[in-house]
Amino acid sequence: MGCSEPGAPSDLVTLRLAPTPDGGVVVLVGTQAGSTGRGAHVHPRVECLDRAVEGRLSKAFRREVRVSAAELGEAIGQREARRIEGLILTAIRTRKVAFGADASAEALSHGALVVAAKDAGRLVDHQPFRGARESGRLIFWGDRAQLGSFTRRESLAVLAVTSPSLAQALRHAHAVVSAFAPAYVAASR
Ligand SMILES: [Zn+2]
Repeated sequence: MGCSEPGAPSDLVTLRLAPTPDGGVVVLVGTQAGSTGRGAHVHPRVECLDRAVEGRLSKAFRREVRVSAAELGEAIGQREARRIEGLILTAIRTRKVAFGADASAEALSHGALVVAAKDAGRLVDHQPFRGARESGRLIFWGDRAQLGSFTRRESLAVLAVTSPSLAQALRHAHAVVSAFAPAYVAASR
């Protein structure tokens, strides 16, 4: 839906409708939505969401959907932003994570995904993190205090997620948030 270009399921955002107690419907977002019923898929791009909302979403769900692309984008962005946090916490709980610059650099050489605080500073301009940014193996998320709070540290500039499936899910969620709620993930420089 949207531009009608094909896309791998893992690259698309899934939208589903769910009834609300007052008789309306809400649009659920994401592959994790877990509800039954019709699903529609859009690329994580503002243009595609705009086009999907212009009537096609209502058509696909066979009922009127009163939501603007901006509202839907914000909802999608917020949801995926929470998901990023959940994925990082899962990685920590399951010990699929390396903390700090040295351990993250080592993990990178084994294919990990680096999560860098937006205020990580010049650290991420240097190798191997610079190369990881260029090849899409480094994402920005939160700030040092937030990353630190996940691990009972005061501050943490980088961590690396070593589970390939968690890393892939993080990359997808991050692409979605970057498209629809960039303030959550933009590096502060
Ligand atoms: Zn599209």
